[in-house]
Amino acid sequence: MTGKLLSIGECMVELMQAERDMLRKGYAGDTFNTAYYARLFLPADWTVDYFTAVGTDTVSDELLAFIESTGVGTAHIRKIEGRTPGLYMIHLKDGERSFSYWRSTSAAKLLADDPDRLRAAIEAANVVFFSGITLAILSPDAAETLLAELRRAKAGGRQVVFDPNIRPRLWDDAARMRATIEAGGRAATMVMPSFDDEATHFGDASVEATIERYRALGAENVAVKDGENGVTLCFAGKERVHVPASQVSAVVDTTSAGDSFNGSFLARLASGDSPADAAAFAARIAAAVIGHHGALIGREKLPRG
Ligand code: ADP
Repeated sequence: MTGKLLSIGECMVELMQAERDMLRKGYAGDTFNTAYYARLFLPADWTVDYFTAVGTDTVSDELLAFIESTGVGTAHIRKIEGRTPGLYMIHLKDGERSFSYWRSTSAAKLLADDPDRLRAAIEAANVVFFSGITLAILSPDAAETLLAELRRAKAGGRQVVFDPNIRPRLWDDAARMRATIEAGGRAATMVMPSFDDEATHFGDASVEATIERYRALGAENVAVKDGENGVTLCFAGKERVHVPASQVSAVVDTTSAGDSFNGSFLARLASGDSPADAAAFAARIAAAVIGHHGALIGREKLPRG
């Protein structure tokens, strides 16, 4: 079955310390990482598009060229004069990583400010993916514009997939954060939360509590990721299926474990795998991804089937 996947959010420029004062440039962001892994594992007759906003400067052009080079489409991406992409820097000190962000005026914060473009992109897709980070970077009004379009997509029979990816430092108010994440859950047909985030911010005592909470909000399918404890699936209200994590020989960098799981899981589901088979495949991919440095790992370094 052919189809179109659209992922909505922010892809940032990443500067990583290389040697002494040298910096290496890359690009990453949760929703883009998910699109990247979906593209790697979807059949060739599927398209994957990214929805965001960039500026008109050289860095924005380079970001678009990079996205295109991964096979992810950029036709829906808006260019805004005078804005630039968000930027973050990874510092390495004694093996520990820390992050600095420059994203408060990034172009992507305006991604929902052209509702016609947003609607056209969503209407062209069968599967729409967004995250709690997508919602966090938007103004309250813009988040509501996006959520209204997603609710419309869900009502129209599209698959709407939400990873809450709760990042308190992106929100100025914890109550608004929780309310907006819940609104994301209501707009979704499938929610893919990480248990430790949900336990911390919603007080869930168990994976089952997370499943029940998102089902009560109206998500038909829930896949709760729980790091090395694997993932628990609840599809269409049927019994829970636990899929263990795959063995990792050495954890090198956990960046993008959840994103690579999301993208490869969605790709296999779209290809017709059962949820349990798709999750077992995604667990193998996520385990391989955390065995390498960086968010976007080349296909040649990942398991085949
Ligand atoms: P997130 O990055 O969103 O917090 P998780 O940490 O729950 O997501 O990880 C997502 C998936 O990655 C897990 O369901 C599991 O398959 C895999 N994974 C994460 N950590 C490990 C680990 N230490 N060993 C093996 N697999 C892991």
